[in-house]
Amino acid sequence: MNHTIRIEPEFRGHGRCTYSYRCSCGAYGYGSRSRGAAEAAGREHQRKQGVR
Ligand SMILES: [Zn+2]
Repeated sequence: MNHTIRIEPEFRGHGRCTYSYRCSCGAYGYGSRSRGAAEAAGREHQRKQGVR
C-alpha cells in the first residue's frame, strides 16, 4: 500500500484556516493549526503503517 500524504488547507472564514492531511490510502486527519502540524500528523500515520 502506498501512503502519500497531501496537505489540504481548510478555510473556515474570518481569515482563519486549519490544515488537514489526506493519505492516498484514504486515511485523513483534520484540524491541525498549521501546515507543519498537519505534515507531522501525516508522518505519524505513515510511521504507524510502517513506511520509512
Ligand atoms: Zn496511509
